[in-house]
Amino acid sequence: MSLICTGCGAPLQMDTEDAPGYITNEAFMREQPVCQRCYRLIHYGQFQPMAIPEETYRQVVMKALARPSFVLYVMDLFDVSGSIVPGLTGVLRQHDVMIVANKFDLFPKQTADEPVKSWLLREARRAEIPASDAVLVSAKTGYHMDELVEQLEARARKKQIVVMGMANVGKSSLLNALLSRLDPEQTRFTTSAFPGTTLGSMAIKLGDNGFTIVDTPGLMGKHRIQDRVCKASLKLIMPTERLRPRVYQLQKGQSLFLGGLARFDFIEGPPQSVVVYVANQLRVHRTKLQQADSLYQRHLGGLLTPPCVSCDEGLRTLVPKNVSFTEGRPVDLAIPGLGFLRLSGHAIKGVIHLPKGVTVNVRNALL
Ligand code: GDP
Repeated sequence: MSLICTGCGAPLQMDTEDAPGYITNEAFMREQPVCQRCYRLIHYGQFQPMAIPEETYRQVVMKALARPSFVLYVMDLFDVSGSIVPGLTGVLRQHDVMIVANKFDLFPKQTADEPVKSWLLREARRAEIPASDAVLVSAKTGYHMDELVEQLEARARKKQIVVMGMANVGKSSLLNALLSRLDPEQTRFTTSAFPGTTLGSMAIKLGDNGFTIVDTPGLMGKHRIQDRVCKASLKLIMPTERLRPRVYQLQKGQSLFLGGLARFDFIEGPPQSVVVYVANQLRVHRTKLQQADSLYQRHLGGLLTPPCVSCDEGLRTLVPKNVSFTEGRPVDLAIPGLGFLRLSGHAIKGVIHLPKGVTVNVRNALL
C-alpha cells in the first residue's frame, strides 16, 4: 500500500484536514488511494482550500514558477493589505501577472469598476506586485468570470496558469467557478504531482482545451487576524453579504471598538464622520474614551467579542499606535482580516489599538 497520494504525490496523512495529503481511514483502504483534495477534484471537479505555513510556502511557489507562467494573483477586495503575499516580488517579475480581485459582491451596489481597479493597481504597485492588469470578480455571483475566461483564452493558452494567494481570499471558490467555465463537462480532470514537490502544489490538465492550471496552497500569517481566530470567531469577522457601511458621527473623547479586536480613539480634531466597513455581523461599540479601558477589561469576550478563549491568546492584548492626519483626502485605516475605517479627510489625531503583530495600513480611501 502506498503512503503517497497517487494523484498529487503528497504524503498521505490522517491528522489535519486542511493540510496536504489528508485522507480518511476508509479511503486509505482503497486501492491506489488519493488524498481527499485530489478525490474531490477528480470526481466532483471541486477544489478544496489548502493552507501551509510560511516556511514551506515559498518553496512551493518558487517550484511552480520555475516555468513560464501566467499568474493569477488572487486578492480579497475586502482585505487587500491582508492579500499581499510577502517576499515574492523578484520571482513574479519574470512572469505575466494579473490580479484577480475577488469578492466584489461585498461592495455597495453602486460601486463603479474603473476607480476600484485603478486604486487596486496603485496599491499593487505600492506593494511592488508586478501586475500588468486587474480584473474585479465575484466567485460567488459569477461577476466578471466570463471576462476572466476571455483573458485566459487570449493570454494563457501556451503557458501554465499558476493560481496563488493568501488563505481565505477565495482562491478555491474562484478555481471552482473557473473550472465550470473552462471545462463545463467536468469529465477529464487528472491531477498530478507538480514536478519536484510533495508540498501541496497540484497541476490540473483541463480536458482537450489546452489549459494547465497549477493550484498552489494558501498562505497564512500572524499579521492577519483571520489566521489567528478560532473557527467560530472567523464566522463573526468574515463578511458573507454586501457590506453595510456603518457611519458614526464622532467627536473627540470617543472610542469605537470593533468586536474586541480593534479600538479607535478620537483624540483631537473637529467632529466628523467615520465609516466602518467590517462584516455586518460584527458588533461595533461606541463609548467614551475615558471608559474604554475599563469597558475592555470587563467585557472582553462578552460584549466585545471576538476574540474568545479559543482564539490565539495574543489577540487579547491590544497595542496602541498614534495616527494623525492633516486636512486632505479621505483615507482608510485598513486592518488585515477585520476591515477598514474610512476617515473623512478632516484633520484628526487618534489612536488605533490592534493585537500585537497586526499593523494598520493607511491608504487612500477605497470607497
Ligand atoms: P481560499 O482559502 O482562498 O481557497 O478561499 P475559499 O474559496 O475557501 O473561500 C474563503 C471564504 O471566502 C469562504 O467563506 C467563501 O465562502 C468566501 N468567498 C469566496 N469567494 C467569495 C466571493 O466571491 N464573495 C464572497 N462574498 N465570499 C466569497
